[in-house]
Amino acid sequence: MSNAIRSDGTVVMATDRCKGCELCIPACPPQVLSMSSEKNSRGYYYPVLAEGCTGCTACHLVCPDYVFEVYRIASSESRVKVAS
Ligand code: SF4
Ligand code: SF4
Repeated sequence: MSNAIRSDGTVVMATDRCKGCELCIPACPPQVLSMSSEKNSRGYYYPVLAEGCTGCTACHLVCPDYVFEVYRIASSESRVKVAS
């Protein structure tokens, strides 16, 4: 049996900060971000997360509006913030 720690990720998005530039969409390696069909409070479409985030932080690095907080999930009980 492997002792490898599960290392998935997730993001928390401050979607009201998003200006809809879509830079994050192609930047996500597993392509788990897509643009919403609804607009945020400022009138822009914003990213929506599907399953499969690895916590790689690419979206955080590319977003000019600091929308993404990135977490890596090391077990079912813990998650570690790696970028905000
Ligand atoms: S890169 Fe940032 S501002 Fe641009 S669409 Fe994605 S979340 Fe919105
Ligand atoms: S952290 Fe990486 S895998 Fe997760 S949504 Fe952002 S770019 Fe995609």
